Amino acid sequence: MLTLMTHPFCCILPPHIVAKLAESKKPAVRAAALETMRLSAAALERRLVFTTMPQMAAIPAVGGKKARQVFDMKGRTRPLPGSLARAEGKKAGRDVAVNEAYDYSGLTHDFYLKVFKRNSLDARGMTLISSVHYGRQYDNAFWNGEQMVYGDGDGQLFVRFTKSRDVVGHELTHGVVSNTCNLEYEDEPGALNEHLADTFGVMMKQWSLGHDVKKADWLIGAEIMVPRKTVKALRTFKNELAYEKDPFLGTDPQPKHMKNKYTGDEDNGGVHINSGIPNHAFYLVATALGGNSWEKAGAIWYRTMLALTIDSQFADMVKTTSMIAGKLYGAASLEQQAVDAAWKQVGL
Ligand SMILES: [Zn+2]
Repeated sequence: MLTLMTHPFCCILPPHIVAKLAESKKPAVRAAALETMRLSAAALERRLVFTTMPQMAAIPAVGGKKARQVFDMKGRTRPLPGSLARAEGKKAGRDVAVNEAYDYSGLTHDFYLKVFKRNSLDARGMTLISSVHYGRQYDNAFWNGEQMVYGDGDGQLFVRFTKSRDVVGHELTHGVVSNTCNLEYEDEPGALNEHLADTFGVMMKQWSLGHDVKKADWLIGAEIMVPRKTVKALRTFKNELAYEKDPFLGTDPQPKHMKNKYTGDEDNGGVHINSGIPNHAFYLVATALGGNSWEKAGAIWYRTMLALTIDSQFADMVKTTSMIAGKLYGAASLEQQAVDAAWKQVGL
């Protein structure tokens, strides 16, 4: 389906987690998960219907300036985007979710502009549109090809999905991907799509907090999870588990090496699972080079995102990052060696 490939419906929470929650013994958790599944399926259907409609998100911001709009769904799921809660330049109100969606989409815009000279998702200043309070206890956030949508979480395992800035950076990066290499959302190209979303999300977090590779926690979605001993975050770039033997989520299935690559059909061929392999490679490159991830490693990865194509595989990612590292820093430079060594370490 071409429409789906052009505008994939990209959730932050992978289907294996939502499915696990739907089996929970706690009725409230189970109910929230079932509702999340129902709403996600409905949103995906509507996404397919609306692909032929004009895209409101494609309106370029006036004069190329940052332009944000945050809408409130007030617990409803349609029609998107809901009622306008805060427009660009307006003061913060009392609603934390509205303020976070506004602030973190602004940080993502600034990150792309200042670090990579990219003016918004489409490089033409497109308006960043977010809707918060989507559904009741909705356990997810997604990019629907036009805008960001955030649930409030069930309150027992997940809180509002705007709380992690890397989740916002992740979802908006899906918008950058669909405007650049447009990687198909399944198998290895899909895992690369998820990988780029995580990588630019985590870099935006580090950049906005001023964290170098050592200070950074390298976690995705730490703040959206209700704290408990068995859980660190949704995903981690390090060679560690993001959650382990958690009574609700089970154990983090992300591989950090090709020998553990997931080969089943779930999750569009494991797009949120196998992204763990290139994610870990990026972490290895960034930590080998030291300093700030978004400078050298980020420069290589940004140019790679522009160079990949719709059906790029892991092998293409390896070749392209190495070639670009060579172009930027010289053949056999330390940077190119770090890239080649990292891929080798994850079995590529
Ligand atoms: Zn995603």
